[in-house]
Amino acid sequence: MGLFEKMEQNGYEQVVFCYDRPSKLKAIIAIHDTTLGPSLGGCRMWPYKSEEEALTDVLRLSRAMTLKAAAAGLNLGGGKAVIIGDARTDKSEILFRAFGRMVESLHGRYITAEDVGTNVWDMDYISTETRFVTGLVTSKGGSGDPSPFTALGCFQGIRACLKETTESNSLEGRTVAIQGAGAVGYHLARYVHSDGGKIVVTDINKEAVQRVVDDFGATAVEPDAIYDVACDVFAPCALGAVINDKTIPRLKCKIIAGSANNQLEEDRHGDELAKRGILYAPDFVINAGGLINVYEELERYNPERAKQKVSQLYDAIRNIVFAAKKKNISTNMAATQVAEERMRLLREVHRTYVRRN
Ligand code: NAD
Repeated sequence: MGLFEKMEQNGYEQVVFCYDRPSKLKAIIAIHDTTLGPSLGGCRMWPYKSEEEALTDVLRLSRAMTLKAAAAGLNLGGGKAVIIGDARTDKSEILFRAFGRMVESLHGRYITAEDVGTNVWDMDYISTETRFVTGLVTSKGGSGDPSPFTALGCFQGIRACLKETTESNSLEGRTVAIQGAGAVGYHLARYVHSDGGKIVVTDINKEAVQRVVDDFGATAVEPDAIYDVACDVFAPCALGAVINDKTIPRLKCKIIAGSANNQLEEDRHGDELAKRGILYAPDFVINAGGLINVYEELERYNPERAKQKVSQLYDAIRNIVFAAKKKNISTNMAATQVAEERMRLLREVHRTYVRRN
């Protein structure tokens, strides 16, 4: 399928290919939908094997950001950027400043932030060239690393799911299997531990696993064994597409609730989970904590207010589960409908406003 065909089919507004000769920057910025406000989404740095792979990723991720912002009730659209390169070896000041100039050239239609492979220091370089960047260091009035907020949102989502399945939202005596002990996974383990929950953890990085074992008394398992762990909650906090035809029959959990983006390989896997009585917290709802936190930065950043807003994801998940039950549809379908309905209503309001003026 050609790029314009893809854009038409899925409603993308703009795709920008960025190249800067001195820094060798190769980046793509995708703006999916700005109905609710300027598009905001992180900048991912990844050694994509091909330009095609980078394009597919940025298109997929920017669309998910539209749904995420809409479902979280934020006045933001969906966008995302990818930089083709290895975050361990290819980072430089001139690269991120060149990227910052590309962001600036869009005059605020796209606001960038951290994502996999980028951090607050990279955002600092970007901010020398553009105002349209969030997730800055706290010493500059920024909101810093969003991961603890994403983890808080996941924790609240897990509590909401437990309330649904067990009548109690406490983690006391419950087991959570965490896939990925990175920035979000570590903080999620901290929350689960502090609420009396038991943790089973895995990661391809042995040191990351050991930190969770040492700090929170977690039990470690090999990466592939995580799907077979008997637990109350499976929390994917590493990769996308981990819920698929191969893994679903292995799962021994009652709830799936984690931070990874695009956890379902295909939408139909959400129906399959519902059929098997596994409650799935839609990823783009439960992992919105980081986005809510950077959104707060666009006003005057207050960490306590950000925490309160992120904690409201508890109600957001409960409402989605309620809507899914009422309509007898999967939770991911219910969440998509909530997000799309909000966008539809606002488009209607815009149209009415334009007609009147
Ligand atoms: P991270 O890179 O810090 O951590 C991911 C961890 O997963 C790493 O430790 C990595 O070694 C591990 N991993 C990779 N492949 C694995 C495998 N096959 N099995 C087990 N572990 C594996 O990333 P993060 O910031 O913690 O984000 C985790 C996920 O949540 C990502 O999918 C990210 O897109 C998503 N997310 C993060 C945020 C945020 O605020 N950081 C917000 C929304 C969504």
